[in-house]
Amino acid sequence: MNIGLIAHDNRKALMQNLCVAYHHILLKHKLLATGTTGQRIEAVTNLPIQKLLSGSFGEQQLCAQIDNNQIDMVIFLRDPENRKDNEPNLSNVLKHCDANNIPVATNLASAEILILALDRGDLDWRLMYREE
Ligand code: PGA
Repeated sequence: MNIGLIAHDNRKALMQNLCVAYHHILLKHKLLATGTTGQRIEAVTNLPIQKLLSGSFGEQQLCAQIDNNQIDMVIFLRDPENRKDNEPNLSNVLKHCDANNIPVATNLASAEILILALDRGDLDWRLMYREE
């Protein structure tokens, strides 16, 4: 599965911890992340990450891939209080996920549920959908 990862600055440490904790599951999948989020994950894990551009440019790249049916799941750990202007916009990512029926998590609790569901095979329907 192709998993998109984005974390606002105040959530990047949380994203690192999430990727360390679920490393054994995530390494079975293809990970794509916005630039700095990807670098931060690489700094603490040996997970291969395809790095997109940073900030909102990376968000736009991810949204284009969602629309092209190339993304199976998104984890966007957002900071609900302090989004900076050049940071990715959650509502835009949600719009693309909702338009394409892509599962998306926006906080640690939902991210853990999605990762565990992924490992259990609950998202395997995506493989069939992508091959159509
Ligand atoms: P980044 O994008 O991973 O490139 O930092 C996310 C953000 O700007 O918060």
